[in-house]
Amino acid sequence: MTAPSPTLAARLQRTLRQDVQSMHAYAIQPSAGFVKLDTMENPHRLPEALQRELGERLARVAINRYPAERTEDLRAALARHAGLHELGEGCALTLGNGSDEIITMLCMAADKPGACYMAPLPGFVMYEMSAKLQGVPFVGVPLTPRFELDEAAMLAAIEQHRPTLLWLACPNNPTANLWDEQVIERLVQAAPGLVVFDEAYQPFASRDAMPLMRRYPHVLVMRTMSKFGLAGVRIGYLMGAREVVAEVEKLRPPFNISVLNAEAALFALEHADEYARQAASIREQRERLASALAAMPGVTAFPSQANMILVRVPDAARTFAALKQRRILVKNVSALHPLLANCLRLTVGTPDETGQLVQALGEALKETS
Ligand code: PMP
Repeated sequence: MTAPSPTLAARLQRTLRQDVQSMHAYAIQPSAGFVKLDTMENPHRLPEALQRELGERLARVAINRYPAERTEDLRAALARHAGLHELGEGCALTLGNGSDEIITMLCMAADKPGACYMAPLPGFVMYEMSAKLQGVPFVGVPLTPRFELDEAAMLAAIEQHRPTLLWLACPNNPTANLWDEQVIERLVQAAPGLVVFDEAYQPFASRDAMPLMRRYPHVLVMRTMSKFGLAGVRIGYLMGAREVVAEVEKLRPPFNISVLNAEAALFALEHADEYARQAASIREQRERLASALAAMPGVTAFPSQANMILVRVPDAARTFAALKQRRILVKNVSALHPLLANCLRLTVGTPDETGQLVQALGEALKETS
């Protein structure tokens, strides 16, 4: 695109928010021809017969119509999938175009004068970004050097800033670990506003926050179908007390779930056993990758309950480049937070991809030492 004319540039300058003008649009790394281990996608496709069946289902969808009852079918299917009814009639579920959109909706909903949003850092970047775009101060509380919750610092920050929203990603991104349950419960008890458990990586984790949601009505649980295996489909969901969900629902763009997205997600839930097998394979590969990393000199691999492993290497930039040269794409997270110095985030892939990653990482480390 050519530069805007001087008059348009001046008009934009006086019309658009300064912070928006200073931002960069989200950049997607080109990945064609790479083993793609940078964004925690499920590496598996559906078996061919199911793909064909899905194609036929999607072909029958009336794309000339706005989304209607199918959105409600999806809401009910996700509630069943998550076991929401076991929590009684008091809970409800709303839908987002990915959980990114739910983060935006919650940040809009809780933007009262004096509001403040809080999350441990390093964490998922959208909490801070959405807060800032909403004009709400964001307080990030550093984790310990082993990426555990710093309970004293969290309690002090809660007391001082009285956050209206507290985000707890369980497991956390990019550190991949699950925090101590008792510490989490004490934070839930201390929080004066809403506490949102972001369970994007729940298919790979050993526990979830549903028991806490049952006991504390200010606890919300947010999940996504992205890591489950539908990153391209864009379905996120938020569960919690009916009264809270009803308020968030008012901010939901009426047609945010396309008819194709709803149908594809319903199809996936009908075949949840296939996705459960895929998640089991990913968990198995995670353990295989963790053992291989533990045997690599100079590498520290942090404990993971997700479909990624955070590792510290002697020189992350050079290791990243050496992997890229071998057509393997991972994420260099070193610059995201001082605690992440020299850290790379490795997404867990197929058995074949794990083999390639281990081989290439071994070579890359030799080359860069
Ligand atoms: N939460 C966490 C912790 C994530 O890591 C991500 C994506 N990487 C998301 C939410 C957003 O996922 P989506 O918008 O695809 O649902």
